[in-house]
Amino acid sequence: MIPRLAILGVGLIGGSLARALKRAQRVGEIVGCGRNEDQLRKAVELGVIDRYTTDPAEAVRGADVVVLGTPVSAMRAVLAAIRDHLAPQAVLTDVGSAKGCVVEDARAVFGGLPERFVPGHPIAGTEKSGVEASFAELFEHRRVILTPHVENAAPAVDLVRTMWLATGAQVVEMGIRHHDEVLAATSHLPHVLAYTVVDTLAAMDDRAEIFRYAAGGFRDFTRISASDPAMWRDICLANRECLVAVIDEYVGNLQRLRAALAAGDEPTVYETFRRAKHARDNFYRE
Ligand code: NAP
Repeated sequence: MIPRLAILGVGLIGGSLARALKRAQRVGEIVGCGRNEDQLRKAVELGVIDRYTTDPAEAVRGADVVVLGTPVSAMRAVLAAIRDHLAPQAVLTDVGSAKGCVVEDARAVFGGLPERFVPGHPIAGTEKSGVEASFAELFEHRRVILTPHVENAAPAVDLVRTMWLATGAQVVEMGIRHHDEVLAATSHLPHVLAYTVVDTLAAMDDRAEIFRYAAGGFRDFTRISASDPAMWRDICLANRECLVAVIDEYVGNLQRLRAALAAGDEPTVYETFRRAKHARDNFYRE
């Protein structure tokens, strides 16, 4: 049970966490914080939070758990605004999609990593944004990755783990760098590809014709390019070192496939597609 929870950034992820914890009856009061009062009022109307403030310092006062649910680019400023106002017992965590940058922000703001700051990342989301898109079931049967650091106090990690378990998620732990490498490959690269494919086709002369005949496969493949461009700009830039490495690997493979297609190299084309189908079939059987 968390007597008072502060959520800074009550959007899709912060709002869904609030809803899930309320549904599980694992939280007393939820205080929301953001910049847009209309959105915060909406969050109260929807029953996602109990009250709100636009002042981060006020939001965290007396809170037992503080969740940073803002875009990763806003984390440093928010951490600086709350640093001197956290209750002594407060456990701090975040939901940012890249972890190295947030840990760096915390180190810069606190002059070291606080023992009660537990970085986290729920591997769940949709292409929608804002509190109205939030729902209590978002994290059910999904993974939440915690990336604890050596300075962490074990009870703080336990509390954050227990909080996520209450949402129906499975909680795993990973090193910070490893998290960023894995997510660059599994999440950030697919977003880059989806945005680039749609952007490429949209610039073609016969784009109207192209999109008119786009079938279900195209829709599936490009769904994530409907995600908030500002948020994904921030994530991709924050994790650019890992992302550029995996883009290079992908470009190398694409060039090999291009060469095989240009040369009419049937075995290479088939073998590439067969390996990919085999990998995907195995992956989704898990
Ligand atoms: P979202 O729906 O756009 O919500 C972000 C919230 O942060 C909004 O309520 C916004 O409210 C607030 N905010 C934005 N800038 C702020 C600032 N400078 N100071 C204070 N509040 C600010 O985004 P989201 O999808 O929930 O993503 C939030 C975090 O979760 C990001 O760090 C993202 O990397 C991570 N994440 C996203 C997904 C996904 O698939 N969407 C999945 C896992 C993790 P105001 O505009 O009112 O300030």
